[in-house]
Amino acid sequence: MAAISGSRKMQALDALESNVRTYSRSFPAMFSRARGSIMLTEDGRNVVDFLSGAGTLNYGHNNHRLKAAIADYLASDAVVHGLDMATPAKLKFMETFNSIILAKRNLEYRFQFTGPTGANAIEAAIKLARKVTGRQNIISFTNGYHGMSLGAMAASGNRFYRTASGVGLSGTTFMPYDGYLGPDVDTADFLQKVLMDESSGIDCPAAILVETVQGEGGINVASKEWLQSIQAKAKCADALFIVDDVQMGCGRTGEFFSFEFADLSPDIVVLSKSLSGYGLPLSMLLIKEEFDAWQPGEHTGTFRGNNLALVSATAAIDLYWRDETFSQEVRRTGEAMRGRLEAIAAKRGNSFAVRGRGMAVGFDCQMPEIAAATARNAFEKGLIVERCGPVDQVVKFLPALTIDCETLNQGLEIFEQALDQALKQTRSS
Ligand code: PMP
Repeated sequence: MAAISGSRKMQALDALESNVRTYSRSFPAMFSRARGSIMLTEDGRNVVDFLSGAGTLNYGHNNHRLKAAIADYLASDAVVHGLDMATPAKLKFMETFNSIILAKRNLEYRFQFTGPTGANAIEAAIKLARKVTGRQNIISFTNGYHGMSLGAMAASGNRFYRTASGVGLSGTTFMPYDGYLGPDVDTADFLQKVLMDESSGIDCPAAILVETVQGEGGINVASKEWLQSIQAKAKCADALFIVDDVQMGCGRTGEFFSFEFADLSPDIVVLSKSLSGYGLPLSMLLIKEEFDAWQPGEHTGTFRGNNLALVSATAAIDLYWRDETFSQEVRRTGEAMRGRLEAIAAKRGNSFAVRGRGMAVGFDCQMPEIAAATARNAFEKGLIVERCGPVDQVVKFLPALTIDCETLNQGLEIFEQALDQALKQTRSS
């Protein structure tokens, strides 16, 4: 029988899969194989990947050094699924993470393995903060994104997603993120004011939940001073300070945790996405011991701490984080990428803005139709880039942290051509 063509297969997939699908619409191709920063389509195209599983593939697709650890583990018939039973793989992960990541940064935390999504880990963090403080209100920020389950969504800003929840979302209060009211307003002052004012209408918070760089919200970068100030306000209000490092953690901003540059000491850190290092689902909370107030089983779930994911996570930490080399390389590559994007923006007048930290960079087109056309054109030319921001007006660059110079430049080249084409298309329409 003749092979079904790529587009026939796409039609078959579209007929079978729910209307809710998204990425198969943005990038309409059958992806059969992937290695490093390149994805291969069934019809033989090589596509540069600047999306990296929305920040899940920081070490690239099918990283062969991590694959070896997984293959060995599978070959040995060791326990893959064991609920949250004790296994050598889990112990090794915690010991490795403790010595290579935490101890070197003078951090001490307990590990909680949650259900495998970022959203479930956020739910756990919010529940724990409420339990510890006996309060309900979670302060989160404009343009924040924390996941699709109801508690996480209640703390997320996007109206489209919130509406899709179908119920009233409660228990949260939104405050303006750093820069939300322009460069001259320190929004931390506003937070201070409402927390201190007995008549502000804002209930005492159980926690302040923040991303240090808002990924889905448009690559909005909070300053060191602002983050320090928010942490201090949480302390002052006897609220827990929670950093959602689901997308910006695991090296994305240049250091393992995105809050290191600001010298923060969150009460709870939420990690997911690139934690397993291989795209396997794994999420966890790091909890300061004094806040580990759970009763056994109060936040349970079938897929907590999957052993295969813990094995690749251990290998990733061991391989990339023993010394500063990788971190320095990420920062260097991030600067080069940002410099190139700033030059692209500057050449085309002042209608574009570039922001980011480390290897999370956003190219704000201001107009959603330009960002949409750019991403579409880019895919036709062989590059996967995603959009983000309140109206999807920002093109988001999240290449693998392990990307080589040549592939990075190839992707940026395609982006520039795609942008020019988009500008012509929008001018002539
Ligand atoms: N928090 C942040 C900062 C995220 O970027 C995401 C996912 N984009 C989530 C939470 C939710 O993670 P998941 O999609 O795995 O539930």
